Amino acid sequence: MTKRTKEILDLLDKKYTRDYKCYLNHENPGQLLIATMLSAQCTDARVNIVTKDLFKKYPDMNAFANADLKELEQDIKTTGFYHNKAKNILGCAKMLVEKYDGEVPRDLDDLVKLPGVGRKTANVIRGNIFNDPSIVVDTHVKRISKRLGFTKEEDPVKVEFELMKVLPKDHWILYNIQIITFGREICFARNPKCSECFLTDYCTEHKAGKKKSGKHV
Ligand code: SF4
Repeated sequence: MTKRTKEILDLLDKKYTRDYKCYLNHENPGQLLIATMLSAQCTDARVNIVTKDLFKKYPDMNAFANADLKELEQDIKTTGFYHNKAKNILGCAKMLVEKYDGEVPRDLDDLVKLPGVGRKTANVIRGNIFNDPSIVVDTHVKRISKRLGFTKEEDPVKVEFELMKVLPKDHWILYNIQIITFGREICFARNPKCSECFLTDYCTEHKAGKKKSGKHV
């Protein structure tokens, strides 16, 4: 790890602590898997509203596997893209019941074979449930990692591999948690609060003077 990377991580630790937290409410791995699938193109707050009733109606993976597709679509409609999400949840639940006795597997290769589960969702599960070092590249991580000069890539999988090279393993899970909070509180996609930022010395956009012209997009 370079001195610069260590300085950035130390500042993130100082500001946001090293406590693990998950923004998606869940009580077991299966619930986190479904909540993460619902969170695509949707806010965590909205997902938490929907899953409050959803997990009562479908208490386990078996219940999801036996759900009526049209009914499930209505149950999750407000999270958006509900046709696809419902189809994937149903397919995923069926595969979990048939192949894994209703449990969520730990292995990345097994996870990404589940319908509707990509590397991002798989890494959420690996990090949050199994504590396996993994980097989740969501919109905040992608945008802010570029601003901090950790990557120039656009493709989330390429960003993930770049970050794995730059960040020490003990920070892989934490980085995502801290950067999400930073992205929600300070480093917005548009009009970030640069005057309140504790990472200005390390920000490539700030250094390039874009802050003054407000070209943060
Ligand atoms: Fe984000 Fe502004 Fe801080 Fe750069 S200076 S990291 S754009 S908040």
